[in-house]
Amino acid sequence: MGLTGIQIFKMLPKTNCGECGVPTCLAFAMNLASGKAELDACPYVSDEAREELAEASAPPIRPIQLGAGVRAFKIGGETVMYRHEKTFFSPTGLAAMIESDIESSDLDKKLKEWNALQYERVGLNLIPQAVALKDAKGDAETFVAAAKKIAEETEFGLILMSDKPDVLKAAVEVCGFKKPLLYAATADNAEDMGNLSKETGLPLGVKADNMEDLIALSDKLTGMGLKDLVLDSGAREIKQAFEDQVAIRRAPLKGGVRSLGFPTITFPCEMATDLDVETVIASMFIAKYAGIIVLSDFKGESLFPLLLERLNLFTDPQRPMMVTEGIYEIGTPDENSPILVTTNFSLTYFIVSGEIEGSRIPSWLLIMDTEGLSVMTAWAAGKFSGDVVGMFVKKCGIGDKVAHKKIIIPGYAAAISGEMEEELPDWEIMIGPRDASLIPKFLKDMN
Ligand code: SF4
Repeated sequence: MGLTGIQIFKMLPKTNCGECGVPTCLAFAMNLASGKAELDACPYVSDEAREELAEASAPPIRPIQLGAGVRAFKIGGETVMYRHEKTFFSPTGLAAMIESDIESSDLDKKLKEWNALQYERVGLNLIPQAVALKDAKGDAETFVAAAKKIAEETEFGLILMSDKPDVLKAAVEVCGFKKPLLYAATADNAEDMGNLSKETGLPLGVKADNMEDLIALSDKLTGMGLKDLVLDSGAREIKQAFEDQVAIRRAPLKGGVRSLGFPTITFPCEMATDLDVETVIASMFIAKYAGIIVLSDFKGESLFPLLLERLNLFTDPQRPMMVTEGIYEIGTPDENSPILVTTNFSLTYFIVSGEIEGSRIPSWLLIMDTEGLSVMTAWAAGKFSGDVVGMFVKKCGIGDKVAHKKIIIPGYAAAISGEMEEELPDWEIMIGPRDASLIPKFLKDMN
């Protein structure tokens, strides 16, 4: 970011019309300077100022959109080295490799298995995003057939891997709608690959043998007018690959090196022969600083921890993790099932829902929005007081789902029971245990 908020402000119209979504040009300038706003949000910037500001306000690491539909993902767009400085924005895309000469029946089997690997956490569906299809024989026909199947029969995005532009071009004709990544331009084919990327409007992977060559290649391709590049320094030895990732993140953020201002792709599948070791390497790259990670396979036991690591790292550290307010069904509750209420701090939700599940007593769990605060904190902050919880119980609609009027509140919030009784005069307010591990016994004793 070359300009300060004040420098940007001087170039804005200063009419304070508010059309950009904030009330003043100064506020907009500050947002622009900190990467929180896009210049296009102001329709009144002069062409001259737009040109100057576009360069200054461009994100240091270019954001790139890949895939389509539910598995679409964005890489790049990061603005800090360390998560505690602000936040990381674009969760690392996870891909697994398939060689194009795979038997059709084996491909079907793999895709079916991979598609089933979906995990629900904090109201989110954690999934891997893409298949990296590698051209095994330089043979367009088998490559295109596999690309077509993956694109049309699954939701996975695609990384099309071949050193032959004509093979990639043929595949793009059948799967271009999935916005695949073309991989990769090298010193030998940069011109043809660059032209293909320009012609198709698809992002292009760039692979070199070392950082120096990577910068030269990146410059060559940006000189051709390409904007969406994904960098691969070529390192397949862990220490070097790690160093390269850090260098590629640091150079644009700290040194303003535009040549490296792009997200990266890494290949743990080419750094180890064992999926467990690949997984450990991948976990390093999620933290430092891969845009995409390509594994040799997706297996639940290796994928799930990576998805959780990614979830934890790519959340805003200044905002507690929370679940969506609402009525959660644990098991298959009916009109006689118990009702419990608690806050939307994700850890609270996990623990309470886990204990209810463990009790094997189907229940209704009401999750109230307390801005991600736990029960005690929310109560102390007045966000989990009796009248507020009572109003929530009334408006959430649980009364229409049950034939009783009993509700269990957390033991630590026992003090709110009186106020709740006033707010919900027809209801019996039951005080649950303080320790969530006692919930199963509490529910069983109720039955
Ligand atoms: Fe200022 Fe432009 Fe925002 Fe209007 S839209 S307040 S002119 S920055």
